[in-house]
Amino acid sequence: MAKWQFSFDQLYSEDWENTPETIKRLVESLILSATALDTESDPKGAATPRDRLVLDRSDRRHNGAEHNQTEAALKQSEQRFRLLFEATPKIAVQGYNQQRQVIYWNHASEQLYGYTKLEAIGRQLEDLIIPPEMRCGVIAAVQNWLTKGEAIPAGELSLMRKDGSRVAVYSSHMMLVNSEGESELYCVDIDLSDCKQAEEALRESESRYRLLAENTNDLVCLHNLQGHYLYVSPSCEPLLGYRYQEMLGQDPYRFFHPDDRDRIYQEAHLAAIRGKPVPITYRILHKSGHYVWFETLTKPILNASGEIVQLQTTSRDVTERIQAQAQLRYDALHDELTGLPNRYLLMERLELAINRTTRFENYHFAVLFLDLDRFKVINDSLGHLAGDQLLIAIAQKLQATLRSIDLAARLGGDEFVILLEEITEIQEAVRATERIFATLQTPFMIEGRQVYTTFSIGIVLNTKDYRQASHLLRDADIAMYRAKNMGKARYEIFDAEMHSQALNRLHVENDLRRAIEQQEFVLHYQPILALETGSLVGFEALIRWQHPTQGLKFPGDFIAIAEETGLITRLDYWALETACNQLARWRTAFPEATTIRMSVNLSVQDLRRSNLLEEVDRILAETRLRGCYLTLEITESMLIEDVESTITLLSQLKERAIQISIDDFGTGYSSLNYLHRLPVDNLKVDRSFVNQIQTGKQNHQIVETIAALSHQLGLDAIAEGIETPQQLDRLKQLGYKFGQGYLFSKPLPQEAAEKLLADHNSPHRLPDYS
Ligand code: C2E
Ligand code: CA
Ligand code: CA
Repeated sequence: MAKWQFSFDQLYSEDWENTPETIKRLVESLILSATALDTESDPKGAATPRDRLVLDRSDRRHNGAEHNQTEAALKQSEQRFRLLFEATPKIAVQGYNQQRQVIYWNHASEQLYGYTKLEAIGRQLEDLIIPPEMRCGVIAAVQNWLTKGEAIPAGELSLMRKDGSRVAVYSSHMMLVNSEGESELYCVDIDLSDCKQAEEALRESESRYRLLAENTNDLVCLHNLQGHYLYVSPSCEPLLGYRYQEMLGQDPYRFFHPDDRDRIYQEAHLAAIRGKPVPITYRILHKSGHYVWFETLTKPILNASGEIVQLQTTSRDVTERIQAQAQLRYDALHDELTGLPNRYLLMERLELAINRTTRFENYHFAVLFLDLDRFKVINDSLGHLAGDQLLIAIAQKLQATLRSIDLAARLGGDEFVILLEEITEIQEAVRATERIFATLQTPFMIEGRQVYTTFSIGIVLNTKDYRQASHLLRDADIAMYRAKNMGKARYEIFDAEMHSQALNRLHVENDLRRAIEQQEFVLHYQPILALETGSLVGFEALIRWQHPTQGLKFPGDFIAIAEETGLITRLDYWALETACNQLARWRTAFPEATTIRMSVNLSVQDLRRSNLLEEVDRILAETRLRGCYLTLEITESMLIEDVESTITLLSQLKERAIQISIDDFGTGYSSLNYLHRLPVDNLKVDRSFVNQIQTGKQNHQIVETIAALSHQLGLDAIAEGIETPQQLDRLKQLGYKFGQGYLFSKPLPQEAAEKLLADHNSPHRLPDYS
């Protein structure tokens, strides 16, 4: 019985084992389909399909009905077989007779090789798809198979298309024997070009990846879903000191810094599994025991069905970058000179402290605002380098007095702030403040000199009301200011009343600015008399604020604020100009009043202005007033700061014949040491001493002392605030030449002053008060 038969054996060769799985499956399913076809047609006679496919065509020769029936079945089977191959896409099946002429050419062959069935049938195999260099070999192999039964093994071949191009195929071959006893060669070719491309791409990316992993300085690892290392690139040795074999299989969390583990788990591990990979920076342990900073990107690796099967990490050492960043941040948060935390860091810490108070009922803290007393004097007298050294030394001392949880910051200049953590009551803050005072009592050695310093300190204890760090600082500052005003070298604790005062100050400041724009100020003029004769010798110009809603305001309500805010100079220059103008006009209007002088008050800030002389010259020139009719009143305290430059300035004023009075004399720090060096003309004893002239009062002799002093220095003594005839008598006795006070006249508005000038013929006299 002649049978068309072919065996699977040739397919299960070594080559087959090396065949890609997909192709195996394709070929197998193809052959199995063919087997199924056969068993269907002859259920009893079917061999086990995997062993042997048998197409028995010998039945053709049977006689009678049976024969016909078999014949029909066979035809049908063949039909189906051909149809199957016909319809199978991508699997090119060709049949050849013993002379290697094409006898069968399916649709897929048309597509693969480019020849239509019509073109192909009858052509020689070797002329059709076999490249020239293979032709002899193929002819010989087919011949061998036919004669010696040596099958051609399945395998990859590069065959030729009609257009001459090459195509890679996986080709398997079957020798079937037809009913005429002739062998027919069937080739099943599967186009590999798609697979080839994919394989090529895979190989390329794999090798690229490997190249990257093996040659990069980065650390590339594969992990299982728990994180354990499955692959570690060799760069782990230069990066972390471990050989990659040491890390394989390890739990990476072992190497992570304990403080970073949670974050890594949340932000890298879980995030990657959830498909949201972001780089993360953390610390990992080097074999030698220190931590290095890594930046790692974790990516999920998916299988064909899209499930995450592994994690891949790429890490690089960013220690230098982190250190540079840390340095930058450190620099940004610390004061360059002293190395103390600066305002920004302080604010950060204060915000943290405020946050903590909202979470912990029993947590309290205090803020101390420190301002060095008279730092400017030190700076001016010893120089800025010495000033810097002093600040550095103070910073060190402050830090030494604090606990490690506290913070000392420098805000700039001579301002420091201390945050005292975990303070339960205000007394603790006070004790800390006293410790600071105590440590600062020992003088600093700066450039070989002993320098004594004191601080004015404002204390604020946090309360629930504070939500902003800036408010705490503001209030500590207010309390510090109060300490300054109360005489320096002391502390004040902030209270609500200070706050309302501070608010008021802010309000007045805004109001003042507006008033300057609107020119709401006027001058009143208080007569100054020669006490012996009672004649008018001049006026003191005193400023008033004609407030649109609050009426006439006196200097006590606004001068201090004008000084604090620097607005005072604009007021004073205005007053100087207005008073000079006024006197110039009076000199024309009252020809007898040629000896009348004008006194104008200056504040310390005016003296520090570089344009004071310029302004004075301008005003004198514009009003055509000679300097000898002008007296400038400056307070004693103004003189002691920066004595040398004050002397220079006063001398320059003297060159213009302007007189200088030391105002409020006796109230400031005694400047007797250098009083004789100051080019001044008058001492104006303060009103408070005149007030105490009545015997029995505590300071009744001060007016005497000042009289004696001015006599010795060759200066004129002027008394202000004379209210009673007794005071006048006593002052005359003591030799006071000039005086002013309510006894004679209150400060007068312009018209009233003019009336006075008009009423009294030269020499100007006021009524007799004695
Ligand atoms: P001061 O320079 O000591 O002026 C004398 C102050 O004593 C004036 O107060 C005056 O009205 C007041 N006074 C005069 N005689 C008597 C008296 O017999 N009894 C009493 N109880 N007081 C008397 P005023 O005008 O309120 O000025 C207060 C201070 O404001 C002045 O003190 C002066 O330091 C300052 N001031 C006034 N005007 C200006 C100005 O234009 N510029 C500057 N920088 N300060 C000014
Ligand atoms: Ca005055
Ligand atoms: Ca005065």
